[in-house]
Amino acid sequence: MHLARFGRISLGHFPTPLEKMGNLTKTLGGPQLWIKRDDCTGLATGGNKTRKLEFLVADAIAKGADTLVTQGATQSNHVRQTAAAACKLGMKCFALLERRVTNQGDQYEQAGNVLLDDLLKCEYEFRPEGLDMNAEGQAYADQLAEKGHKTYFIPGGGSNAIGALGYASAASELVYQADSLGIRFDKLVHATGSAGTQAGLVAGFHAMNTPIDIVGISVRANKEKQIDNVHKLAVATADLIGTRGELQRDMVEAFDEYVGPGYGQPTDQMVDAISLLASEEGIFLDPVYSGKGMAGLIGLIQKGYFRKDENVVFLHTGGASGLFAYQHLFSKQKVA
Ligand SMILES: *Cc1c(COP(=O)(O)O)cnc(C)c1O
Repeated sequence: MHLARFGRISLGHFPTPLEKMGNLTKTLGGPQLWIKRDDCTGLATGGNKTRKLEFLVADAIAKGADTLVTQGATQSNHVRQTAAAACKLGMKCFALLERRVTNQGDQYEQAGNVLLDDLLKCEYEFRPEGLDMNAEGQAYADQLAEKGHKTYFIPGGGSNAIGALGYASAASELVYQADSLGIRFDKLVHATGSAGTQAGLVAGFHAMNTPIDIVGISVRANKEKQIDNVHKLAVATADLIGTRGELQRDMVEAFDEYVGPGYGQPTDQMVDAISLLASEEGIFLDPVYSGKGMAGLIGLIQKGYFRKDENVVFLHTGGASGLFAYQHLFSKQKVA
């Protein structure tokens, strides 16, 4: 794997820290828990989209674009980080926000990531739930191009093979850190949605022939669909990297027991996981992704999925800005 063959523009702070979660390990009674802090990538409160955007934005600039167009749910972390990347590079950002969650109160369409989108001068339009949002986004980009913008469309979550290179790179960063510290990692757990993060990790570990199992905790799709999505994109990413050898479907693992009623819909385990990480480790997770990812890690520990002597790393994918759109779940004072 030789990623310098691909264009990349620096947007974040790397390598992100790798920390031990001593208190949580003790409270849960093992395995040995670590956390890879991709909430600390630095771009406009950070998160996993920064790594993907370093490759995507380089491609946009190579193609002569001056305007980034993308799409996401109303509280999209991806839209917020894309808007920040545009600011940093003197580009414009337009986004479509899908009203995928409509029952979380008045704050939801104004606070959290939407507030930050406003500060970043992202221009956005809302769409109702259930459309083919990548098709809508591409059509939106085409309209903007007719008005003279030099547009580059980034799919939801930045999840295509170019974006996934960011997580192939993260895989090699993590292995380097683990080897430097002399830690043998057995498994990596993280929240999986549009699939680019997991696909990039799977493709990266495959390219390096690294025997670390990657466990995705789905935040939306059922198990079979999520594994299919991740596998398909991991194969495309491996092709782009130029890896030899087949990337098999059984290299992808995902669980769907922690989605709850649906995308962006709270669960009790998510609320408990967020409270636990804050009080035990001083780390903020988010209600849509990393909170459910951590609920999945805790649930799997309770089911005996890991051996006590295993080293398990949780990839913190960011998203804490979204807490402010879900105040009613966490505030001690009643919020309307
Ligand atoms: C987008 C996102 C994810 C999921 O990553 P995918 O690459 O879309 O699967 C996880 N956590 C947070 C905070 C995110 O914003």
